[in-house]
Amino acid sequence: MLKDDAPSNRVSLEDTEASATSALLLSLVVPTYNEAESVTAFLARVSEVFAAAASVELEIVFINDGSTDSTLERLMQHQATDARVRIVDLSRNFGKEAALTAGLEAARGQVIVPIDADLQDPPELILDMVARWREGYEVVLARRIDRNADSWAKRASAAWFYRVHNRIADLTIPENVGDFRLMDRVVVDALKQLPESRRFMKGLFAWIGFRTAFVDYERQRRFAGQTKFNGWRLWNLALEGVTSFSTDPLRIWTYVGCLVSFVSFLFAIFIAVRVIIHGIDVPGYASLMVAVTFLGGLQLIGIGVIGEYLGRTYLESKRRPIFLVRKIYEPKG
Ligand code: UDP
Ligand code: MG
Repeated sequence: MLKDDAPSNRVSLEDTEASATSALLLSLVVPTYNEAESVTAFLARVSEVFAAAASVELEIVFINDGSTDSTLERLMQHQATDARVRIVDLSRNFGKEAALTAGLEAARGQVIVPIDADLQDPPELILDMVARWREGYEVVLARRIDRNADSWAKRASAAWFYRVHNRIADLTIPENVGDFRLMDRVVVDALKQLPESRRFMKGLFAWIGFRTAFVDYERQRRFAGQTKFNGWRLWNLALEGVTSFSTDPLRIWTYVGCLVSFVSFLFAIFIAVRVIIHGIDVPGYASLMVAVTFLGGLQLIGIGVIGEYLGRTYLESKRRPIFLVRKIYEPKG
């Protein structure tokens, strides 16, 4: 269905059918949120990298994710002199996952590479990725072998997230892999078919499968500005990750309930026997209080987990679009 509607596909199909000599169209998908300080350096670096790669034709899709600084103006200035630049301007900040989705929708390339604007993902690596793609891999993941550029807290929490997620959820997210990757057109078309509006990209990427290769790199420092992911946002992203791909947190309460009931049952027998042997003894405030508060807490956690899923079902059931576009700026000529 999607295949026939999307003009982007028609372009890329012509591309493949044209001839083996025509250049490969590669789309960079760059979500930007308040990156005015980075985009110029980003474009300069990309141009440098691809200057020598004659076999690759470039399209750079910037998604302006509701920036409040001069990111959009900067991008438009660049577009005036650089016909590779396309800009998708979203109506507000929808978050990186939605911005990426918007970019994948707009991209027309035969291969597509999401990349951050802050130069933390080195563009040089893309040529290695293309080489692997030419070997027949449909997905080429960039794996961070050295994350020293990230803070200790971020690395520790990331490691912990992968461990918990991969144990709980039904699919395994490769560790130390971000959104920076190369995808074949078929992979992106597959992604576009996933209907969910709450998008945890790393999970979706892992869910679709396809033949996958890795290239390693060292994570760079941010070129300018600040990370947009503080602790709370990362925590919510992690929750999203686990709840999007597993219902185990819901199911576990059945087992916790069984265990607690069983223990209470044994305790009841113990009390009954003690009463028969020693008679009734009134003190017991401490154990009562402990039981009441412990069970109360347990029930609240259980309800909270159910609420988490119910909330997601509710949001999903509204079928709202993932992002809204204010305007798409195409290069002239
Ligand atoms: N980003 C975005 N929308 C957001 C947050 C971030 O488009 O709401 C973009 C941001 O401009 C950057 C990329 O996503 O190009 C990665 O963001 P950031 O560098 O803050 O994340 P980190 O590298 O610290 O994980
Ligand atoms: Mg970054």
